Amino acid sequence: MDRPRHADDAGRAALKPHTIRMHDRDNVAIVANDGGLPPGTVLPGGLSLRDRVPQGHKVALVDIAAGTPVLRYGIPIGRAIQAIAAGSWVHERLLQMPAARGLEGLPIATGQAAPQPRLDGHTFEGYRNADGSVGTRNILAISTTVQCVAGVLDFALQRIRAELLPKFPNVDDVVGLEHGYGCGVAIDAPGAEIPIRTLRNISLNPNFGGEVMVVSLGCEKLQPERLMPPGSFAITPAEPAQALNVVRLQDDAHVGFMSMVDSILRQAEHHLERLDARRRETVPASELVVGVQCGGSDAFSGVTANPAVGFCTDLLVRAGASVMFSETTEVRDGIDQLTSRAATPEVAQRLIDEMAWYDAYLQRGKVDRSANTTPGNKQGGLSNIVEKAMGSIVKSGSAPISNVLSPGEKLGAKGLTYAATPASDFICGTLQLAAGMNLHVFTTGRGTPYGLAAVPVIKVATRSDLARRWHDLMDVNAGTIADGSATVEDVGWELFRLMLDVASGRKKTWAEHWKLHNALVLFNPAPVT
Ligand code: CA
Repeated sequence: MDRPRHADDAGRAALKPHTIRMHDRDNVAIVANDGGLPPGTVLPGGLSLRDRVPQGHKVALVDIAAGTPVLRYGIPIGRAIQAIAAGSWVHERLLQMPAARGLEGLPIATGQAAPQPRLDGHTFEGYRNADGSVGTRNILAISTTVQCVAGVLDFALQRIRAELLPKFPNVDDVVGLEHGYGCGVAIDAPGAEIPIRTLRNISLNPNFGGEVMVVSLGCEKLQPERLMPPGSFAITPAEPAQALNVVRLQDDAHVGFMSMVDSILRQAEHHLERLDARRRETVPASELVVGVQCGGSDAFSGVTANPAVGFCTDLLVRAGASVMFSETTEVRDGIDQLTSRAATPEVAQRLIDEMAWYDAYLQRGKVDRSANTTPGNKQGGLSNIVEKAMGSIVKSGSAPISNVLSPGEKLGAKGLTYAATPASDFICGTLQLAAGMNLHVFTTGRGTPYGLAAVPVIKVATRSDLARRWHDLMDVNAGTIADGSATVEDVGWELFRLMLDVASGRKKTWAEHWKLHNALVLFNPAPVT
């Protein structure tokens, strides 16, 4: 009676070979079956495997001559180093990566898709701020100017959680915006504006309700007035700027450690009182500001999770919301797709400028975009950055790209934005927070427990095997697309509806449930001293 029938079903399914080809031109397909397929397996088209092909890895569908292109997503992901017989495992050592596309002669705003119909009638319950932005959580954030204060602030945060938060039941949490910047840095060097504006703009994230409070040491280079210049944090343009609320640990008034901690608690209480008065109200889905990214990618990322996120991105754009995609080294190889999708020639030029800036940044370190792929990516079947990039870009859906942000800038536009960031999960998430995201979507194939303290992170698994094993870490299973039990559209809609529930506070993500919070990690291209 209690016999687990699904195990039998899964066993049968595992025996039926299943491969996925992304484009009619492709001469390879990837193996979808859990555990891969043994040599001798006969694929539905009659092709017999010559090698064991691991799950997510490529099999040659035809004989591929030495020196000819291996095609996936309809584009060359490399050239065969030697002849590859049909039915062979096409692993990374058999491929020579193509050179990066130059930044000259690109198609400029020539390939926008036809506008899709508006999607009206979807709402969520959010916290409307005085500046018009909308929060999905109600959090007190305490900014810091320098790492030196982190230990004192952590001590104070424990007391705030224990002594103050119970008095303010409408406040979800208190977080310290801690970081490694602030002193021992060349603060006037080119590039230093990036970490500084990142910290400033994170303090203004919609989830923090316009309440700005800073803990400073006193002697650091990043003085509070430089972090938050007068006028930068006025809650509405009509309101005069408030005086910046700073607790400075080196002030003469502080005698002993407890005096510093008491000062932080005293100031925090004023902000908590105001935050506690916030109430959720019904707002249109157009108030979502969603950052999408991927991490721990495998060959399924570009087949299941990222296309589902891309479908959802299109739904969000149709609903009038803001969506950011990022990760420069993962889109660099598809720059011609991006400039062609740019809404205007100006947007296309800004895309090119961001790519050129990043090319130069990598050259200074004597690397190129090929430094992106990890051992885990390769084990997961991604041979190189070209293949990874094609699977990464699909998160952006098909809408025209209407805006570009440089690292650390704040978003002020609806529609689809390219927010230039490194692909590093923590740096990308930190920069998307600074841009003002109120919801984060993260796809993963190898698996990562990633989370952020300031916004909910919805994690999407690319494979059912990962979703089963990490059942209390993954929020959505896009592996159903590879299993054949759901379509890209089904999972895209599931994600869209879950986003509205999570944004409303009706549902928590697993990372929120377990309080899994990665550190903020700043992007600082300038020297340290
Ligand atoms: Ca990433």
